[in-house]
Amino acid sequence: MRRVVLIQPRRDGRVFGKSPGSPYTLMRLASLVPNEMPVEIWDENVRDLPLDTLREGDLVGITSMTVTIEGAERIARRAMKQGAGVVLGGVHATLMPEHSETFTHSIMVGEGYFTWQKLLQDFAADGIKGMQRRYEDETWADLTGLANISDRVIQMVDEKNNYWTPYLEITRGCPRNCSFCTAIRVSGRKMRLRPIDEVVDEIQRRGIKRFFLTDDNFGLNFTTDPDYCAHLFEALAKLDLHGWTCQSEMSIAKHPELLEMSVAAHLDKHFVGFESVNPDNRSSLGGKSKGAALGASEAIRTIRSMGVGVVGLFVMGFDQDTPETFQAMWDFIRTSELDSVSTTMLTPYPGTPFRDLVEAENRLLDSPWSHYDTAHVTFQPKNFTVDELRSAYDWLCRKIYSPSQIARRGMRSLGKYPVAQMGKKAFGSFSTDYGYRRTYAFRNDI
Ligand code: SF4
Repeated sequence: MRRVVLIQPRRDGRVFGKSPGSPYTLMRLASLVPNEMPVEIWDENVRDLPLDTLREGDLVGITSMTVTIEGAERIARRAMKQGAGVVLGGVHATLMPEHSETFTHSIMVGEGYFTWQKLLQDFAADGIKGMQRRYEDETWADLTGLANISDRVIQMVDEKNNYWTPYLEITRGCPRNCSFCTAIRVSGRKMRLRPIDEVVDEIQRRGIKRFFLTDDNFGLNFTTDPDYCAHLFEALAKLDLHGWTCQSEMSIAKHPELLEMSVAAHLDKHFVGFESVNPDNRSSLGGKSKGAALGASEAIRTIRSMGVGVVGLFVMGFDQDTPETFQAMWDFIRTSELDSVSTTMLTPYPGTPFRDLVEAENRLLDSPWSHYDTAHVTFQPKNFTVDELRSAYDWLCRKIYSPSQIARRGMRSLGKYPVAQMGKKAFGSFSTDYGYRRTYAFRNDI
């Protein structure tokens, strides 16, 4: 074997000189490559890929979500033409293995932490001929000691100069099974926890001061494992961090003590999946929210009163939504105390109950995978035409991401910090909304 090359296809590219998020999965897989094997990480968001340097003896591993799969296919076909062995892993390979197999030598179904090492052995022993068509996880991995990021990889990736937001994993999994979400199939139903000392060690060795958790639903741990959360917060409180953010649900509002501890642990913001203000959508939300604006307003107020910010995550286009839902959504956001807002278009991702439904009802549109970015309509809605739903979504986004609304929410977010902390909190107070505006504008050419 000449070398292992791990590739992340382009999504957002560089924004003001850096890519938004680090290639965390690839960093962990690269850390499992034995020291005697050369390994490289190529992130197309950061630089153009030197695909012409690939040749026989190289093992190319590509990770891809559904939205980047067309780019992944282009890279895979080129690498195979150059003589390299090509394996595809990630969410799309896990959820649509048959499609992924059409342009690769191998695919990895599942998390891949064990099968990746088997593939490395197979390729080292017998090149492309040694690669199995499919490597599939049989169990969910215990996170203890799992693929901790090596010093070789930390040096190689240079997160400080290449990325705005380092990613970090502390827990994985979510049992909710919301109709539109892939988490239960990609990360498992059972919540798994990393040992706290390993989390602290990784933060220190990477030298990161700010990070975004990749955890599917970190906030659910407040309810399912409050002791773990308390110990974690005690440990993180001792570190010199600028702030961190995570994905959550509104049940965290019922845990004021943990919220207080999280502030001391430098937790800045919870991205809370409220999903909808339409109570008729509650059956799509896995029991975490009743889809009612009243409860959401109270939860936002409670969480913010503890000094933690709330980014509201909402999904539009459920079968029960009507034109009135968009007005209700805007009224809610306009009058809420949210720090930032993400509003996305319902998307029938492979492997989700919602996709099963629209497929069964013959409502899937013939959309390119690049439109599976939560900003395009990719199915035939129930109470709208496709154009009507697109227009209603555009109307809402233009309201939410107007410069005045972003400034208003950003100032509100910054205002909750003591004056002495405002300098280091200023970036995070505006960057979330700005990032969503940019994503929305980019996808829709405005
Ligand atoms: S609660 Fe969040 S992570 Fe869990 S299934 Fe629902 S959307 Fe997915």
